[in-house]
Amino acid sequence: MCGIFGISDNEESAKLSYVALFTLQHRGQESAGIASVKNGKLSYYNSMGLVNEIFNPSVLASLSGKSAIGHVRYSTAGSSSVNNSQPLYFNCKYGEIAVAHNGNIVNAAHIKENLAKNGAIFQSDTDSEAIIHLISRSGKKNFFEAALEQLPKLKGAYSFLFLNKDALMAARDPYGFRPLVLAKKDSSFIFTSETCAAEVIGAEIIREIEPGEAAIVKNGKISFFRFSPIKKYSRCIFEQVYFARPDSVVCGHTVQSARYLIGKYLFEEMKGVKADIVSGVPDSGSAYALGFSAASKIPYVPVFMRNHYAGRSFIQPDQKMREFTAHLKLAPIKDAIKGKEIVLIDDSLVRGTTSLKIIKSLKNAGAKKIIMAVASPPIISPCFYGIDTPTKEELIAVRLKEKDKIRKFIGADELHYLSLDNLIKACGLGDKNFCKACFDGKYPVK
Ligand code: AMP
Repeated sequence: MCGIFGISDNEESAKLSYVALFTLQHRGQESAGIASVKNGKLSYYNSMGLVNEIFNPSVLASLSGKSAIGHVRYSTAGSSSVNNSQPLYFNCKYGEIAVAHNGNIVNAAHIKENLAKNGAIFQSDTDSEAIIHLISRSGKKNFFEAALEQLPKLKGAYSFLFLNKDALMAARDPYGFRPLVLAKKDSSFIFTSETCAAEVIGAEIIREIEPGEAAIVKNGKISFFRFSPIKKYSRCIFEQVYFARPDSVVCGHTVQSARYLIGKYLFEEMKGVKADIVSGVPDSGSAYALGFSAASKIPYVPVFMRNHYAGRSFIQPDQKMREFTAHLKLAPIKDAIKGKEIVLIDDSLVRGTTSLKIIKSLKNAGAKKIIMAVASPPIISPCFYGIDTPTKEELIAVRLKEKDKIRKFIGADELHYLSLDNLIKACGLGDKNFCKACFDGKYPVK
C-alpha cells in the first residue's frame, strides 16, 4: 500500500502536498517524498521516515514549483530502503520525470528481466520502475503519448502520477484496483488516493479516475484519455475493511458509515448473542463496534487505550518489529474489562497474532468471556495487488481451516466472521465492483 498526491498550478504546491501526505500517512509510514517542477526543472526530496520528520520549511522551500507529486510508502514489492522511496526520479530521452505509484504490477519481474537482458540498469528493486523503462523505449514523440502507449503492457494494480516539465499525468489500471480521485481547488487540479487528502486542503472532489483512464493537466487545462477499456471494475474491498481513513468517501459514502453498517450486519448474523459490552480494536474496530452497539443495544465501551505514536502494528515489514509495536500499541483499560462478557470486533484476522495477543491481554485484565467478531470473512488468499498479506501458508484460515481451531488458537470463547455478501452490501451500497480475491481466491488478473 502507498498513498499518492499530485497538484497542478499552485504556488504552494509542495506545502499542500506536505499537508496531503500527512493526511495519507496511514497508507504508508516507511518513507515519503515530494517532487516539484519549476522553470522546466524537477527537484525532489525523498527520505525514510514519517512525513513530518522528513519535511521542514527549508526542504519545502527548495521544492518551490507550481506542480508537485508526493508519495508515502508501505512496501509490498521491493525492500524498505531509501532507493525505493518515491517519487522515483529519472532522466531519459523525454527529459526529467518523477513517478509516484500505488499498487503492485504483477508482471514487473518479467518485464524487468527482459529489459535487463538487453542491458537495462535499475536504480531500485521496485515494480514501479518497469514503466519508465518501457516508456523510454517508445518511439512516440512525447512522454505522455509514450506513457499512454506503454501502460497497457503492465498487468496488475497501478494508480500512477507522472510529473515532467510540461504536465502532470494520472493513470489508473483497467481494473481500478487501487483508488485514485480527481479534485479541484481554484485553478489547481488534484489527484490523490483518498478524498480525505483533497478535502484537508479545501479542494472539491470531482470524481474517481476510471479504470483504464488517464488524465493530463497541461497549461491549466485537463484532458482525459482512455488507454484501455474498463476490464472488470475491481476496486479493492480491503480498503474499506482496513486501510482507508474513516472520513474518506468510497462508493458514495464514507468508510466510517460502511464500517458502521458492517457492525449492524455482524449483529444480524449473530442474532441472540448476549454480552455486557461491545468494543472494537482501535482504531478501525471502533466504527464496527458502534454499529453493532446501535443494532444490539449492547453498550459500546472502549476497552483499549491506543498509543497513537506507536504506528500500525502490522505496518513494519519485519516480524520482530511487528510483535514489539503490537505490545506497545494497545493497553487494556482494566475497570472496563473485569468480569465482563465482551463482544470484541476487529477488522480482519490475517495470521491471527493480533487477536491472540489482545484476547490474552483482555483475559489477563479479568474479562469473563470474549466473543470475537471479525468484520470481514476469513482471508484465504494472499493479495498480489498491493495489500501486504503473508503467504497463503501463513494465513490462519488456511493453516487451521476450521473455525473452531481458529477460535481456540486466538483464545476466544466464540468466533464469528462476517459473510462476504454482507461485506459487499455494506461497502458498495449496491455497487458490487470489488476485488475480493483475499476472501474468495478469485483473482481478476492472473
Ligand atoms: P493478524 O494479527 O496477522 O491476524 O492481522 C490482523 C490485524 O492486523 C488486524 O488487527 C488488522 O487491523 C491489521 N491488518 C490487517 N491487514 C493489514 C495490513 N495489510 N497491513 C497492516 N495491518 C493489517
